[in-house]
Amino acid sequence: MIPAVAQEIVLAAAHDQPHAHSDDPRTLMAGHDAQAHAAQVKSRRQEREMTFWERTYLPEVFKGLVNTFKMMFRPSTTIDYVGGKSKPGQRHIASVGYRGEHYLKVDDGGNIKCVACFMCSTACPAECITIVGEPTSIEDFGAQRFKKPDVFEIDMLKCIYCGMCVEACPKDAIAMSTTYNQVHTKRSDAIYDMQRLLKNNDEFMQSLGLSRSGRDATGKYPISPDGCGPDITHGVTDFRVGVREGGA
Ligand code: SF4
Ligand code: SF4
Repeated sequence: MIPAVAQEIVLAAAHDQPHAHSDDPRTLMAGHDAQAHAAQVKSRRQEREMTFWERTYLPEVFKGLVNTFKMMFRPSTTIDYVGGKSKPGQRHIASVGYRGEHYLKVDDGGNIKCVACFMCSTACPAECITIVGEPTSIEDFGAQRFKKPDVFEIDMLKCIYCGMCVEACPKDAIAMSTTYNQVHTKRSDAIYDMQRLLKNNDEFMQSLGLSRSGRDATGKYPISPDGCGPDITHGVTDFRVGVREGGA
């Protein structure tokens, strides 16, 4: 089967060469009189010719303007990106489990929960987490917290928001909020340091009506499996003191 367009091309070519030899393969492929078919093509072309007004495009422009004018008085169906002037109902609300910006959690004592174990940076496929650990003080962090991060940075331009760092963390110290609107004017702004990640924690908890450590009014942790604070050391408070005195 020869496509119709190809047939038209073949027949038009045949029409341009009325004295082509009768065993011309193009004429044979057509299977009927080339001149008759060319007349049909010409007739169809005439049918498609635009009218005067169509050629001016003015009716279509006018229809478009009428449509635009009508839409001006209808309620907006779009959602503002950042939502500064939008109504609450118009804003995009990220669903549960949305992987937005990271935040670093703190315990009930206000100390960072991260123990600088490097599990998250090891699991990160984008290699965008940089951690430098340092020893903790027993007074602040209790007996079971040997290390805390001195540097904790995430390069958000490299991050692919896969959530592997959150899954890998044994201390429930890092999580991802539903914050999705990120606007940076320079690349360095997209490297979130520890202060920024802790600030993210504070803002996210506040938006959820929770305390800084994630407790609700009843004292529970609705989005955190444990507080990882001084009150969950299971009664063991002198483990590190004992180990250090023993020379470890
Ligand atoms: S979300 Fe994925 S890519 Fe981003 S920091 Fe975590 S592990 Fe790395
Ligand atoms: S955030 Fe979690 S996994 Fe990453 S270093 Fe801190 S404790 Fe380890």
